[in-house]
Amino acid sequence: MATVEAPTPPQIRLHEGPFANEPLTDFSREENARRMRTAIDKVRGQLGREYDLIIGGRRLKTAEKIKSINPSKPSQVVGIHQKAGKEHVESVMDAALKAFESWSQTSVEERASLLFRVGDLLREHKFEFSAWLVFEVSKNWGEADADIAETIDFCEYYGREALRLAKTELPVQMAGERDRLLYIPLGVGAVIPPWNFPCAIMAGMTLASIVSGNTVVLKPSSDSPTIAAKFVELLEEAGIPEGIVNFCPGAGASFGDAIVAHPKTRYIAFTGSREVGLRINQVAADQRPGQFWIKRTILEMGGKDAIIVDADADLDAAVEGVAGSAFGFQGQKCSACSRAIVDERIYDKFLEKLKQRVEKIRIGDPTENPDMAAVINEASMKSILSYIEHGKKDGRLITGGDRAANAGEGYFIQPTVIADIQPGSKLEQEEIFGPVLAVIKARNYDNALEIANDTQFGLTGAVYTRSKEKIDRAIRQFHVGNLYINRKCTGATVGCHPFGGFNMSGTDSKSGGPDYLYLFSQGKAVGEKNT
Ligand code: NAD
Repeated sequence: MATVEAPTPPQIRLHEGPFANEPLTDFSREENARRMRTAIDKVRGQLGREYDLIIGGRRLKTAEKIKSINPSKPSQVVGIHQKAGKEHVESVMDAALKAFESWSQTSVEERASLLFRVGDLLREHKFEFSAWLVFEVSKNWGEADADIAETIDFCEYYGREALRLAKTELPVQMAGERDRLLYIPLGVGAVIPPWNFPCAIMAGMTLASIVSGNTVVLKPSSDSPTIAAKFVELLEEAGIPEGIVNFCPGAGASFGDAIVAHPKTRYIAFTGSREVGLRINQVAADQRPGQFWIKRTILEMGGKDAIIVDADADLDAAVEGVAGSAFGFQGQKCSACSRAIVDERIYDKFLEKLKQRVEKIRIGDPTENPDMAAVINEASMKSILSYIEHGKKDGRLITGGDRAANAGEGYFIQPTVIADIQPGSKLEQEEIFGPVLAVIKARNYDNALEIANDTQFGLTGAVYTRSKEKIDRAIRQFHVGNLYINRKCTGATVGCHPFGGFNMSGTDSKSGGPDYLYLFSQGKAVGEKNT
């Protein structure tokens, strides 16, 4: 990384030792459950507050507002946010460009140290941050805790990665020269996250940007701006200079689109749906007056992820893996299993066991830590229910199939399993992004792999089998960015499972992996003649 010869500021403190994942909280321990309940009570007392736009350190209000609501209790307002519009684009770009002048010249140690401080602060406020996710997006405790643990991991991992990149050495040197490869920042990035990992993905793309020396226009999802506001408060507490991260909730189609189109935007880090990702790719491709670069796009998009259950699989483990991957966080993960492709020899047995397992899932208010809570909003609930109706005609309903009205006023949907879905049909091909699992019968393992690969997407996949030969074939032939063997297809962990998909699932950016920060930097080769 390019650095200037500056004295080391006193606050720089680099974490020692190798990276280790933040442990997940065991809520079966009363002490942890008590801390979580206390955090939930504290956050409940802070619901409905108003948050500002932050542009170059200035706090601004707008006439129009975005209201973030609790999906499990839609009458409860979680936070009120300003709404950035096209009229804010120039001022936020100016602020980010100005901050880039100095931030791009700070030492990598200073930038990494900021991330480590953020990680320390998050650890201190872990339960409280998890509680915000419980209210804002209806994660249960375990799901919320995993989201915050992943955010801490990103602080620790990208901090170390930036330090590693700065030490890159070229093993081949021209005689009589000192040859170097420096990773320098790109410029101003638009960071556009989804709502489903509203802390980890939002923070991950932001942290990768700033540790690499870029400055950011952060436009959170309108379904989850409050957790983003809390994260930006934490950055401020950690001492981030003004203008490095500019906080701009706003509509995707207006503010988001305009910031992508701006000639001074150097790159776009996006995670979300295929449709929006493709739109961003298209808008970013046009050269506008005053634009001197090809905009870089880092686009992580949807999935239609499959778990193959082979005839010789450990059936109980497969049922557990499928149920966990399909219904964790209401199926609203890009990595969620939405297709179980099952060998015909065990198909009926598998369905019988799966039905029993799924019918044990408890739905309820996420503050009480059920297995499942509400889906994100009303539009999403309607879309999921319409897929379910379609599925009832196309296949055989095994369990679920409706709203879970007795869970409360929120957007609760029963975990739904529909069997006998045909390859190539709507339910087998389209991302539903809710608690709906299509089960497809395969003639054999070859046929299962064929069905699994016959989709536009290629994000995650898993195979349950005892056969070494079939495992090898899955590794060679199952075309997904994240493949799992004899385990669920959700739960990618920073460092262990660099994450990102193939085909219409995105640009395979591999967040949480050793290649990620290259995407936020550009390599400058310097050949210097010895004098
Ligand atoms: P979305 O595409 O609707 O929105 C994502 C973000 O894009 C939001 O901040 C939104 O405001 C913004 N946006 C919308 N229109 C825009 C435009 N024209 N220009 C710029 N920005 C715009 O997705 P979502 O509903 O928030 O998230 C769910 C989707 O995200 C699913 O498809 C899921 O698979 C995907 N996802 C993918 C990954 C991955 O790593 N591949 C991870 C999580 C979620």
